[in-house]
Amino acid sequence: MQKTKVLIVEDNIDNYELVRFLLEHSGYETFWAHSGREAITMLKTERADLILMDLSLPEMDGWTATERIKSDPQTKHIPIIALTAHTLPGDRKRALDAGCDGYLSKPMNLELFAETIEQVLSKAKRKRKSGPIL
Ligand code: MN
Repeated sequence: MQKTKVLIVEDNIDNYELVRFLLEHSGYETFWAHSGREAITMLKTERADLILMDLSLPEMDGWTATERIKSDPQTKHIPIIALTAHTLPGDRKRALDAGCDGYLSKPMNLELFAETIEQVLSKAKRKRKSGPIL
């Protein structure tokens, strides 16, 4: 069976290593983009079942990258979870307004991390099953 493949968009290598470790430990396959622009480029050739999106990124921030991914018919079905230290009031709403399907704040709560990923993935799966086949 094919492993669920997660794109980690993160410019901080320590955060990236931690997220990659947690995901691979849970049986997910991962790949890495260090900016919003790189994420969009990679999605043209690589399959992703889920995106974990940092918001403060070089070249193109996570809000903009999310909007682009969600407005492209080729990639709009991919669920996106914002993963960010932006925990000011309104940041959560701004991430969801940009099209994110979920939101996790740093530093991470490990239980919530796993739970949110499972929820967002199963919701996306249900949506694909009931939606029109494009
Ligand atoms: Mn960052």
